Amino acid sequence: MPVKLRLTQYVHRLRAVLPAGTGLSHADWQNRHRLLTWLTIVCGLALAPVAALRDRLDVEWGVASLLIAAMIAGAVELRSQRLAASAVAVGLTVVCAELVMLFDGRTEAHFSFFVAVGALALYRDWVPFLTFLVATTLHHALFGSWMPHMTFQHDSGIGHPWFWAAIHGVAVLLAAATQVTAWRLTEAEERRALEDLSQAEAQFTAAFEEAPIAMTMLAADGTVLRVNPAFKSWTGMAGPLPPRAQLSDLPIQIEGARDTRLHRRILQGEADVLREERTFHNVDGRVHQVEMHASALRDSAGRLQVIVSHYLDVTEKHQHQEALRKQAREDALTGLLGRRAFEADLNMLVSEYAGEVSVIYIDVDRFKSVNDSYGHSAGDEVLRTIGARLRAVVPDTAVLARLGGDEFAVALVGPTTAVENLAISVAGCFEAPFPLPTGRKLTVTASVGLSLAGATGPEATLENADLAMYAAKQGGRARVQLFDDSMREATQQRVWAERTLRAALEGDLKSSLPVWFQPIYSLQTRTVVGAEALVRLRTPEGELIPPGLFIPLAEETGLVVPLGEHVLRTALEQLDAWGEAMPYVSVNVSPKQLAEPGFVPMLTDELTRSGLQDPSRLVLEITETSMLERGIDLSERLAAIKALGVRLALDDFGTGYSSLTWLQSVPADIVKLDRSFVVGLSHDQDKTAIITAVLWLARAMSMTVIAEGVEELEDAEALDKAGCPAAQGWYFSRPVEPPAMTALLTPRQVRAVS
Ligand code: C2E
Ligand code: MG
Ligand code: MG
Repeated sequence: MPVKLRLTQYVHRLRAVLPAGTGLSHADWQNRHRLLTWLTIVCGLALAPVAALRDRLDVEWGVASLLIAAMIAGAVELRSQRLAASAVAVGLTVVCAELVMLFDGRTEAHFSFFVAVGALALYRDWVPFLTFLVATTLHHALFGSWMPHMTFQHDSGIGHPWFWAAIHGVAVLLAAATQVTAWRLTEAEERRALEDLSQAEAQFTAAFEEAPIAMTMLAADGTVLRVNPAFKSWTGMAGPLPPRAQLSDLPIQIEGARDTRLHRRILQGEADVLREERTFHNVDGRVHQVEMHASALRDSAGRLQVIVSHYLDVTEKHQHQEALRKQAREDALTGLLGRRAFEADLNMLVSEYAGEVSVIYIDVDRFKSVNDSYGHSAGDEVLRTIGARLRAVVPDTAVLARLGGDEFAVALVGPTTAVENLAISVAGCFEAPFPLPTGRKLTVTASVGLSLAGATGPEATLENADLAMYAAKQGGRARVQLFDDSMREATQQRVWAERTLRAALEGDLKSSLPVWFQPIYSLQTRTVVGAEALVRLRTPEGELIPPGLFIPLAEETGLVVPLGEHVLRTALEQLDAWGEAMPYVSVNVSPKQLAEPGFVPMLTDELTRSGLQDPSRLVLEITETSMLERGIDLSERLAAIKALGVRLALDDFGTGYSSLTWLQSVPADIVKLDRSFVVGLSHDQDKTAIITAVLWLARAMSMTVIAEGVEELEDAEALDKAGCPAAQGWYFSRPVEPPAMTALLTPRQVRAVS
């Protein structure tokens, strides 16, 4: 390998190992240069008092001071950084040399050179550094040989100035080496930091530019520094960003403000990360719903550098949500509001009109039977028609909703008369027949409850209207009922009764639901011919509640089914206990119970269980009114009961429609004449005539008759005279517990029992 090539290789390697000697920014260099120039000035001035103290304010000192002054002038005036730094290096060399001279070459004075080399390393530049090394070596050699006693204190130095100059040079060089090493390491670290920084910057730029979300970068003064391509395509912005552009110069408009409040709040230092939703108008007229996220980037001193913002277009999300909200608010069948929306709007009405809201509650009568008889599509059609008719009569200012099922409600604000009139119009919606998809027309009625504006809150008003509607149902349906406070009491009582009944059914049935018996007497022989089982409810406090107070509720809640089973089982057990002494026991069966598909199988099971030989000793009492009201066709079921050999009694005959034709259609064995025909019978000709007619008809149809509610002897006698075979009533006995019933049986009968 040629020598020249090898040399350049070595130079390359050396350069790689040594610090480059650059890297200070202009500002940093100026700072350091100012510092070192001042150091030279201070040291140069400090020489004067030292010289004075040593009594050496001589020519050498004068020359040195002049030289130092010249170098300081050079340091200040020279435009080239390197020359100015070299002037400082020479100036400091002269300071050190003069110090050595003032102390006659004292070794300790030479320490100043080490201080100077450290100070000059601050330039991180080879030129002043090497200038100092060369100047120092030259000084030691020249002055060592010219005035050795003033340069080296020892004899060897005086004898061999070049040798000692070299030694001093090497020492200074070694001191310099540590500086060079530090300098080199700092350079490497700075380079790495710089690389990291540019890498981070490149990554940020890539993330900013390639982000699929519109982004902007704002300077601390609010000018727009950058916008990304996604922002440009989103806003339809063409061309580059104008210099010193403000957000308001961009082709978007933010509703309500020229600048976004968000940025202003960040600029004002309120927070570093903020989010808000705004409406944006594009140049092309498009309106966007935008979620803006802005975050502030600060430097280490906490000064705001930039604000980076993301603009998330949530227009579609909003449209989706709006559609969902509408869907959730509206009832799909009628297009009216749903219950939730109704409640929300009701609250809104209240807050707008300070509590003066009235509510009309509408419930279709026997809607279930429409569904059952004509199918669900017919039911839907009826509901749709109701919705349309209501919409036609309800004013726009009112809130109309289908609360669910066959329930509708109207909430409105206005004077009482207007509300009452509307309630009447609402009821009027049910006057015309309802056309079905099959072409048939159906008459449908509704029970309407009305709760007028009062001091109560909206929920209470709605609840009151519901209670009034319930009262309308109880009152016979197809009517408008105005709420009054007694309804609330009745409801509370119902709630209490239901809870007590449920608890009773879960407890010890024998004690919580005792079955009492009322004897039925033969009017001719005055002996017991049968007994009616009548259930009572015993509260935990021991109070006995008559069935009239809980049977209707048990009917409504369906609790009458397990209750009826219990009564039937108890009656059969009791019948078995009495044996032949008791000709028969009659058990009341509610229409709801009878309509249960499981009723006949249950009855069959209970009969088998009881081991009753003669099923005709069991009589089931059914009422005419309740069955007619429900419109249930029970003929098949009644036939099945009859097929079991169980007898049927028509209870409370005469209270309902008292249709004699209906009497013919029911396969009853017994007719129970209602108490209303019996009371005061002895002196009422009309009643006697009716009873005679019923007795005649019953006989013609092979039915027997029992008169109910006989309280007076005269009535009993009158019944007997009219030919009524049997009766029950307080005149004979009130309903009693089984042991008391046993006691009422004739001695012959009792003997049979025992
Ligand atoms: P109901 O079947 O007509 O029973 C006769 C009711 O008249 C009984 O009332 C009885 O105590 C009452 N009563 C009897 N004699 C007289 C009298 O001389 N004067 C007056 N004022 N009342 C008299 P109770 O026990 O309160 O039963 C009321 C209704 O509750 C019964 O009327 C019946 O419809 C129903 N009920 C009773 N127990 C049951 C039951 O186990 N199941 C079902 N589904 N209903 C029952
Ligand atoms: Mg009865
Ligand atoms: Mg009765």
